[in-house]
Amino acid sequence: MLTLTFLGVGSAFAKRNYNSNLLIEAWHHGPGTQSGPDDTLLVDFGSTGPLALYQLMQKPGFTYLEHNGIINYPAIHKVFVTHQHADHIGGLEEMALMNAYVYRDPARDKAFKPQIISSLSILMNLWDHSLKGGLSVMAGRYALLQDYFFILALNHQEAGKDGFSMLKRYRFTLFPTDHIQVQHKFDWPSFGLFIEDVQTGESAFYSGDTRYDYPAYARMMERARICFHEVQLVGEPAPVHTLLSELRTLPEAVRRKTHLYHFTDDWDTGPFDSVREEFAGFAVPQQRYTILD
Ligand SMILES: [Zn+2]
Ligand SMILES: [Zn+2]
Repeated sequence: MLTLTFLGVGSAFAKRNYNSNLLIEAWHHGPGTQSGPDDTLLVDFGSTGPLALYQLMQKPGFTYLEHNGIINYPAIHKVFVTHQHADHIGGLEEMALMNAYVYRDPARDKAFKPQIISSLSILMNLWDHSLKGGLSVMAGRYALLQDYFFILALNHQEAGKDGFSMLKRYRFTLFPTDHIQVQHKFDWPSFGLFIEDVQTGESAFYSGDTRYDYPAYARMMERARICFHEVQLVGEPAPVHTLLSELRTLPEAVRRKTHLYHFTDDWDTGPFDSVREEFAGFAVPQQRYTILD
């Protein structure tokens, strides 16, 4: 079984919801019968990620994320980074430092290292332009990304390097999305994920941050049994996100299985109440969705 829990469902600047980051859990049996999952993956870990995880660990069913009152970071085995905006990467420095110092393996005198996964260019830029500032020194020496993480660099254009797996059963394939164009499409992409159960053929879709670009991912959304698409509720002239008005043009069958996330703090003020009927609804934070049985 594969479950998905939003740490938060908010936009980059939301204050009533945490950043749109995900905890994905893979289970041999299921949450009811195991004390914790067999494998774990964070999809992004933004500036509000640590606080959101701290809240989640206090909820029934998520106590494996807690250790002596603090976040049990070694319970997170993998982190996938969609892109470098702070609402998606701002918590990684804390995770790296806690794993390196608080959860240092005393037997080997080495940091606990989760796997960090993204495209090669995002991983290089993530280190050079963001994480290096706080993580490039340890007492007595300089440090690199690989001192904190096992690195898995993917390439969406190369078969065999365009994804990764959980429990050898759930296959995650990344695809670039049209988040920000500097000069041309995909020159500053974010990445979405198409998730397949290789045993049953069932699948799920996660857009990541993107402008509306349905032709690019229509086949995945049509095939998936459940979809999660980002949304910007109110329009502006040059959006880097997907407007609600654009999502309303999705085919009805796709709309009805699509949960919306990455929204501003005004989602429940009235004008957007029809989202509940038009779509699968607004994604609910800190609640487990079973995405693949
Ligand atoms: Zn974002
Ligand atoms: Zn973004």
